[in-house]
Amino acid sequence: MLSNKAFIPNIGVPSKYNVTKRRRFTQSFFLILYFIFPLFGIFYFDSSSSSFVLLGKTIGINNSVLFVLGFIVLLTSVITAAITTGRSFCGWVCPQNFLSEVINKIIKAFALKSNGEKKIIPYAVITAATLLISISVAINFMFYFGAPANVFNSLIHGQLNGNITIFASIFGILVFSGIGIFRHDFCKYACPYGIMQAAVADKTTLRVRFAKERSSDCIDCDACTDICYVDIEPRKLIQADPGCMNCGLCVEACHQVLEPLGVQSMLDFTSEKDVKKENINSKAVLITTSTLFAFLTVFIYMFFNIPSIDLTVTRDDSYVSVLKPDGYLSSNYFVQVMNQTTKEKNISFKVEGIPENFITFDKSNLILSNGQRDRFKFKLNAKKSLLTPGIIQFNVLTYDTNDINKKPLNIAKASLYVPN
Ligand code: SF4
Ligand code: SF4
Repeated sequence: MLSNKAFIPNIGVPSKYNVTKRRRFTQSFFLILYFIFPLFGIFYFDSSSSSFVLLGKTIGINNSVLFVLGFIVLLTSVITAAITTGRSFCGWVCPQNFLSEVINKIIKAFALKSNGEKKIIPYAVITAATLLISISVAINFMFYFGAPANVFNSLIHGQLNGNITIFASIFGILVFSGIGIFRHDFCKYACPYGIMQAAVADKTTLRVRFAKERSSDCIDCDACTDICYVDIEPRKLIQADPGCMNCGLCVEACHQVLEPLGVQSMLDFTSEKDVKKENINSKAVLITTSTLFAFLTVFIYMFFNIPSIDLTVTRDDSYVSVLKPDGYLSSNYFVQVMNQTTKEKNISFKVEGIPENFITFDKSNLILSNGQRDRFKFKLNAKKSLLTPGIIQFNVLTYDTNDINKKPLNIAKASLYVPN
């Protein structure tokens, strides 16, 4: 049994078990992603065209199938991550937690010791740093609501959309209070992911565990408790604590203390089933991963097959097909198009399955900016004697105007009823 505190080496002794560098790298990586996603057009919502832009494709909010698939993929990934890795997302990815830790570091760096042991907290420095971080995060948030170049232009000319400014200001206030006031208390008591994670955790969930069966090996150094920024006592982690972020700092501290003494760490990441040596699989994980795999496959297939131009043709119900005295049959249709790319498109139209001279488009050529929609009519005026009575199916095709001999960008079906 080791109990003499004189043997305690300094925290920071190099250990094979080093999570801090990997964790900082992961946290920084995800924070950088937050900043670059909209700026590089990887993901944002273009409020002017009411569509999402993802990897250079524009998805209109009317594309309900893709939205439902995307929502299921997101939900199942979050639940799977929560069951398997516990709150590792919070400790390793979440910017709220990371930025709160940054503020902790600032407090530590600027805190001054008064005569006694008590530290003087530099409120002015904390407030300034929190404001600066919150404003940067809130400004970047605006780029999630429009084409980045447009948002930037509006920003420097002070002509931002009122709703976006309100959203960004509310978001900035939430970030300020989250990282400056509530910090890890928000993570512990109010974070929706944390609440959901506690509800779905099972015996296979990864968590920190104190090796109670070897408790005499603990040298009572308190290094694990001192380093925990959410005020958990890791030695009491016989059962999972829903407030634990799985950050691994306490595990690393214990390794650093006990390794030089040739003693196995008292703290490690494990799961209930591994402790009890049970050979069980989580049914919930099986269900969520198979659902995730199935829906993700369909989502990827549909996403990469989104046509560059969305094309829909509908009959104008307010206009009844008419057989005119000169023997011509007349009908009206609507064409709806949307540019589903992030580049301007110059498009033309033609028909197949019915003579081209029967059709007159209101607009035969269109230039659409990214995400732009248009709706216009075309008229069908056909000599009835040239048509077979019954329902005639025909296609409306749209092409890239500069590429008229190549593959159509999209094809929509339409029909015409020819009376006897
Ligand atoms: S108990 Fe350990 S792993 Fe959990 S939050 Fe505290 S330091 Fe991180
Ligand atoms: S469990 Fe905590 S108190 Fe015990 S040896 Fe490890 S770091 Fe020190």
